[in-house]
Amino acid sequence: HADIAMYSAKKMGRNNFQFYTPAMNEESMERVRIESALRNALERNEFVLHYQPQVDLKTGQIVGMEALIRWQHPELGMVPPVRFIGIAEETGLIVQIGAWVMRTACAQNKAWQDAGLGKLRVAVNLSARQFGAPDLIAGLESVLADTMLDPDCLEIELTESLFMNDITPAVDLLHRMKSLGVNLSIDDFGTGYSSLSYLSRFPIDVLKIDRSFVADITVDANDAAIVTSIIALAHNLKLAVIAEGVETLEQLDYLRSHGCDEMQGYFFSKALPAAEFEQLLVQGRALPPPVLLEREPAP
Ligand code: C2E
Ligand code: MG
Ligand code: MG
Ligand code: MG
Repeated sequence: HADIAMYSAKKMGRNNFQFYTPAMNEESMERVRIESALRNALERNEFVLHYQPQVDLKTGQIVGMEALIRWQHPELGMVPPVRFIGIAEETGLIVQIGAWVMRTACAQNKAWQDAGLGKLRVAVNLSARQFGAPDLIAGLESVLADTMLDPDCLEIELTESLFMNDITPAVDLLHRMKSLGVNLSIDDFGTGYSSLSYLSRFPIDVLKIDRSFVADITVDANDAAIVTSIIALAHNLKLAVIAEGVETLEQLDYLRSHGCDEMQGYFFSKALPAAEFEQLLVQGRALPPPVLLEREPAP
């Protein structure tokens, strides 16, 4: 056997070692490390969810939160989702990870409700890979049954990538999701390449304006036009609209004066560990009243 192994290694020559040559850059080495560590992360309990408040722009109150995954690896440290969600999708690991996120977020929301902290809604990101998995509906049913969370308190965030090709199977699946009583939103709205026609065919409840449009809303007339158009589009279709990535009072004013329903962003709070988010609820944190005063509407 040793001979055979040696022979084949020789036969394959130096090319066999290409994997380790400098051609493999830092980035792809890290990718390999992340991929193998990711395989053990769930059973080692390395994931946590942080929660970012979603605030009603009329009342200033927290009405919901988005659950955002964090990965604390003993050697790699804190790995942000942009560095592992894509890999989790490609390897299929996102299906189990996503199921853990769904269950944890629903259980946490129910626990806060049971503690009398308000009937909030929790938003959970669903990747395309999860959407295509055969047991999506059964998984959702069992999470809702086990946690006893009111399905109306769960919002599932989808991206436009789901609607790019043949949308017929997606229409059916979305209706089955809707029939569970949950809410559906389109995340990062406006950044995909899908046609708008899906909006009239799909049982969507909420559009989330991508933060790339919000960033320059007060300085770039084109971005401002896009945002006001998305708000109008949403309302004409009887959908709610939430802006993400709101960092300044000026952005908030603009959105509020143009009728945006809710906002999420660093201006109010970043995503927080569960214990810290709970403190916001206990304190009844809201937008301070001066922020909600009528001001000169932004142009
Ligand atoms: P997303 O779903 O669009 O989430 C919003 C991202 O914007 C979050 O980044 C959030 O921390 C960040 N953000 C919120 N407010 C602000 C702001 O005012 N300014 C700026 N610059 N950023 C803000 P995060 O947590 O790093 O997540 C990045 C993406 O990773 C998410 O984008 C989502 O696509 C994905 N992701 C996170 N958690 C999950 C998950 O549990 N499952 C799946 N499938 N994807 C997830
Ligand atoms: Mg999201
Ligand atoms: Mg988003
Ligand atoms: Mg985004």
